[in-house]
Amino acid sequence: MHTSERNQTCNLLNLIGNTPVVNIMTSLFPYTDIKIKLESYNPGGSIKDRVALKMITDAEESGLIEPGYELVEATSGNTGIGIAWVGRLKGYKVTIFTHDKVSKEKLALLKFYGATVFVAQADLPADSESNYLNLAKDYCSSGYRYFCDQFNNLSNTLSHYKATAPELWLQGGRDADAIICGVGSGGTLMGLSKYFREKGSKAKFIVADPIGSIYKSYFCQQKHVSSSWKIEGIGSNFIPGIINQGVVDGVFSISDDEAFNACTMIRETEALDLGLSSGAIISAAMKLAETGTAKKIMCISPDAGERYMSKLQSHGDSDVRI
Ligand code: PMP
Repeated sequence: MHTSERNQTCNLLNLIGNTPVVNIMTSLFPYTDIKIKLESYNPGGSIKDRVALKMITDAEESGLIEPGYELVEATSGNTGIGIAWVGRLKGYKVTIFTHDKVSKEKLALLKFYGATVFVAQADLPADSESNYLNLAKDYCSSGYRYFCDQFNNLSNTLSHYKATAPELWLQGGRDADAIICGVGSGGTLMGLSKYFREKGSKAKFIVADPIGSIYKSYFCQQKHVSSSWKIEGIGSNFIPGIINQGVVDGVFSISDDEAFNACTMIRETEALDLGLSSGAIISAAMKLAETGTAKKIMCISPDAGERYMSKLQSHGDSDVRI
């Protein structure tokens, strides 16, 4: 092995990406090819490792940050965990603003990687001073603090356009009829759809959206009925700056129960551990497969159920007491 190859292999950051794709629900839907890309295989445990690394390296390369800066982000957890992990590797102090809907496992991971964490109230209107996003912006108004701003930062979209999308293309995406993802910041959706459209793919982009989120009404021009939901990482009560309307072909509204039940079903039938947004995506895949309109469906699983263990365990099934 050449020294340059060895150096590449030894850098922990090079372990990000090249995540596996597996077939699922083959007996439930024998005539539909359903595959899922497992982003929990990233070293920080989620799809957001890709985004964290790209936002940080792009900021370094354009001179927006240098050693000694503090990285700040507003996040439902995974982006923060990615930034805390990459930040620790690169020697930046990291401060994360999140909200009280986030699982205790994700909060523990943020602290574990050394981030300072502020927890705001969830589901506050986007214009509320106490909304976690506005608190993060305010915090960055002084000092050597850099607001990563995944909701408006094109490095987020680019991380998927440059890596997640070409991987998916080669892993079966080339002839997919549908690609299903969730939308939080919209980075995954925007990066994948840009790449696939440029490649001439006819795949339909389908969104799994929690009931109560604004995205269904935004993409499908329907009346919005707002409510809160438990599925973490997807859905929104505002439209992030990096999202365009024209890229989505369909939206399935998914309830918390449907997402929880899909996680349980996949765990029991396939021994596959998926997070709640993946549960919503699986639920959307089942609804789509039932229509018979897509022969090959590719799903993006952003993370695993391990980081929602307490929520998954307390939902429905309780321990047998003796
Ligand atoms: N699922 C989970 C668990 C997430 O943390 C995120 C990111 N918020 C998403 C899905 C959505 O990804 P994106 O931000 O790229 O829309």
